[in-house]
Amino acid sequence: MDFTEAKHRIEQLKAILLENSRLYYVENAPTMSDYEYDQLMHELEALEQQFPEYATADSPTRHVGSDLEEDRQSGFAKVPHKYPMLSLANTYSIQEIEEFAERAEKGLSNSFTYSCELKFDGTAICLTYKNGKLASALTRGDGVVGDDVTENARRIANIPHQLKGSGYPQEFEIRGEILMPYESFDKLNHEREVNEEPLFANPRNAASGSLKLQDPEEVGRRGLFCTLYHIPTGQVDFPTHDAALSAAASWGLPVSTDRRICHNIQEIEAYIAHWDTARKELPYATDGIVIKINEMAYQQQLGYTAKSPRWAVAYKFKAEQACTPILSIDYQVGRTGAVTPVANLEPVLLSGTMVKRATLVNEDQIRSLDIHEGDWVYVEKGGEIIPKITAVEPSKRRPGAVKPVFPAVCPDCGTPLEKPEGEARWFCPNTTGCPTQMKGKILHFLSRKAMNVLAGEATVEQLYNKNWVRTPADLYTLTEYQLTQLEGWKERSARRFLQSLADSRRVPFERVLFALGIRYVGETTAREIARHFGSIDALKNASREDLLAVADVGDVIADSILAYFQNEANLQEISRLRAAGLQLSTDSTQGKLSNALEGKTIVISGNFSISREAMKALIEAHGGKNSGSVSGKTSYLLAGSKPGPEKVKKAAELGVEVIDEAGLYELIGGDTLASPSAPLGMTGSASLGMTGSASLGMTSGALGMTGGLFGKEEAEPTLF
Ligand code: NAD
Repeated sequence: MDFTEAKHRIEQLKAILLENSRLYYVENAPTMSDYEYDQLMHELEALEQQFPEYATADSPTRHVGSDLEEDRQSGFAKVPHKYPMLSLANTYSIQEIEEFAERAEKGLSNSFTYSCELKFDGTAICLTYKNGKLASALTRGDGVVGDDVTENARRIANIPHQLKGSGYPQEFEIRGEILMPYESFDKLNHEREVNEEPLFANPRNAASGSLKLQDPEEVGRRGLFCTLYHIPTGQVDFPTHDAALSAAASWGLPVSTDRRICHNIQEIEAYIAHWDTARKELPYATDGIVIKINEMAYQQQLGYTAKSPRWAVAYKFKAEQACTPILSIDYQVGRTGAVTPVANLEPVLLSGTMVKRATLVNEDQIRSLDIHEGDWVYVEKGGEIIPKITAVEPSKRRPGAVKPVFPAVCPDCGTPLEKPEGEARWFCPNTTGCPTQMKGKILHFLSRKAMNVLAGEATVEQLYNKNWVRTPADLYTLTEYQLTQLEGWKERSARRFLQSLADSRRVPFERVLFALGIRYVGETTAREIARHFGSIDALKNASREDLLAVADVGDVIADSILAYFQNEANLQEISRLRAAGLQLSTDSTQGKLSNALEGKTIVISGNFSISREAMKALIEAHGGKNSGSVSGKTSYLLAGSKPGPEKVKKAAELGVEVIDEAGLYELIGGDTLASPSAPLGMTGSASLGMTGSASLGMTSGALGMTGGLFGKEEAEPTLF
């Protein structure tokens, strides 16, 4: 690889990893598997080592992924960690674990042991106990500062509020994981399906999303539990990590009993082999084994890189697989025109769910897997709910089976497909005329994180089929009379939809820019670009160099933006959106719908006609503030169906006014249901072919573990 190629690939990897890190940690809706993510991270580490001139301080190889909601009111106080909360170096290769052990044996002067533990697949938590009482609970955040989720942690049944026994330090921190057992996960997703809310892809995302709820009672209902595995060095006086954890267990803290002390690599490998199978019987998710040097003195001596301890490594298990035949292959067009092959499978049970369809990613993937029609294939669950085909079982191939032929033309509009340079996917170039792309773009435009208009797939389909809406700008020409002509629409629904569209005129420029659906311009990039240029006109006139000056923008994004503004149809669309009154610059009101709730602090509890998240967004959009618990400062308790009895009681005690959903709508002006709820089927995670950045130039295959177990700081003097 030459310097130009390396620079381009490094930028591409950084963009993919940053966006996917945000989707994973903040949105709890990953679009790629952990394995893919880890391989890309290792590829970036290797490239940065080979081309250090392109290794920048903001690289994801140097920071732990952050769960803090950048620029968004998470509603939690941000509290600095006493000791940074880091990640773990990881590998999928036993050989690398052997190398870790070899380095340890060579480097450490005296005898030592390893503490082998399950790697719990949840979300990290840091608990502080003062005088035996739970004083605080912080999420990992960005490793330096975490969200204060103490009230939520108090509702997790196995976290003790008061320690038992004696001998615990007056004040200490203990760290671990919050997990959601499979049973609670299935129950939660079932409820969400019934309520037409987007499903969680896996128990980890569900645990992490639940821990960040603003409703502690609801957190208590989610069936979460905690397991603790680390007391930061220097706080307790124990010779080993294991002794510290045993003491913690004696104080009543939930510590796993499945850890083992191992003396050599053979014992470590036996532990790994045992849990590789036995973990499938556990009622909660684990994604590997953590191997730690057990002696505290050695842990201290070895220290940390910027991202992880040098005294520990995680061996990660690959995802579970199932083998089943392909019945047929569909080629789906996404909103950006990318054509994704999707296999229809003989239904098969995988990690507790029946799998009927799986993505084949792109043509290169079909070729590299050597897929033939009717092949038996191995399927695996990645980050998405829709699984992925990872390999073929050649022994089951039918004689004479032929290879599938990737379509030369768009399966939807018949336009010849194109493969842009550096892309692994085929695209339908008919961006302004291909029906699936047009509908996908309109749906994206309306979605919660974009214009937040109350409409879903069915509405878009109706409007498109009537030939009334071909582009987002057409939405703003719709009339109440037209809408009431549509099947199933009444005056009230038409008015709500139009009101919601009218409200979208106040959506800030950064979200309008995201709503335009420019390829590779995700939510974060749109925000950066909007701030940098300040208006669509400045962006339109920006040169390549101007674009590259934005932190998040590399060659790929810059080219995509330039191409967007070179298309006459896009320019016309922008002038129509301007005429419709959308915010095309930053010097406009920041997305507020009204000031009706200015100065009001509202606590919500129970279920509403829209999701709780949507309700909170609605309150904020009308100038109100959300709070998790009722206090003297609370203006209203907004009670839906089944509100938390404790909150209702507290409100009564403090004389806080209790209002219902209708009461809120009255406060914010009539029956304006400017609901920010996302209709099912509109989230990237649930709809195949709409996940743009997820498979940017990515093909599968082992990319090699060249990053080293100890990450960037290997050059520093270390024992290993
Ligand atoms: P990690 O999950 O690989 O490992 C570190 C974490 O393991 C710790 O923070 C801790 O929370 C947890 N852990 C569980 N059991 C433990 C034990 N016994 N001892 C110590 N720690 C234990 O690292 P991470 O930084 O939380 O996440 C990075 C990983 O997340 C990546 O390697 C990737 O697999 C995944 N990820 C995936 C995507 C995606 O799009 N799929 C995006 C970002 C990150």
